[in-house]
Amino acid sequence: MRQGIHAGRAAWAVVPAAVALAHIGPAATWLPELRRRRFPGLAGRGSAGHVALTFDDGPDPVSTPRFLDVLDGLGVRATFFLLGENVVRHPATARELARRGHELAVHGWAHDGPWLPSPGRDARELARAALVVGEAAGREPFWYRPPYGILSSGRWAAARRAGLRPVLWTAWGKDWRADATAASVRATVAADLGGGGTVLLHDTDHASAPGSWRSALGALPDLVGDWRAAGLEVGPLREHGIPGTDAAGTGAGQPEEAPAPVA
Ligand SMILES: [Zn+2]
Repeated sequence: MRQGIHAGRAAWAVVPAAVALAHIGPAATWLPELRRRRFPGLAGRGSAGHVALTFDDGPDPVSTPRFLDVLDGLGVRATFFLLGENVVRHPATARELARRGHELAVHGWAHDGPWLPSPGRDARELARAALVVGEAAGREPFWYRPPYGILSSGRWAAARRAGLRPVLWTAWGKDWRADATAASVRATVAADLGGGGTVLLHDTDHASAPGSWRSALGALPDLVGDWRAAGLEVGPLREHGIPGTDAAGTGAGQPEEAPAPVA
């Protein structure tokens, strides 16, 4: 890997994309298998008897309230990773998430990937997103999950400066796809999830195929039923017991180990 990066550096003048590739080199942690083995906290591994339920990309005034109603019916609280730009567009929906007892977390300002290094912008935007999420929640956010799960060195540093703890996920539902269904989401999650895992779903199609949120919404009752039948509790990340975080999920947290910096 490192050898490849150095070879890439020699080619920067002619292949600018290599700059971006070297920059996101530390983001190898987003590779699910590596993440599971080397960074269990970052992968959202917590108490064996608990499943953490998380949603990304909202809030969305059309779809998010539908999730709130289904979650209320199931008696489940979750963690919502919000985009700053969506919080300022839909502040009432963001506040409603908190009012209904859910945990608000930070997904960034806009849903863009760190394709080129921009540490200054990363720091400014993450701080701004943490501020508006904190205002909606009435408390400072604790968790940060970057768009696409790509934790570049710049975003890692920005999270540290903002006092946010990066966390990705253990299993996802591929609910963003145009052909996703409630059944496909349920099966996809089940393939990778056991006790102690963190599930990634989306409560909006903000960065996904139009209307794709309906697959996640439709899968929720069966997913929660599956987990409860297996004797697992379901809740937000603050109750997940990830090592290095306190039970209430308060205060600034930092990951157990940062990935090796690249150059
Ligand atoms: Zn996202």
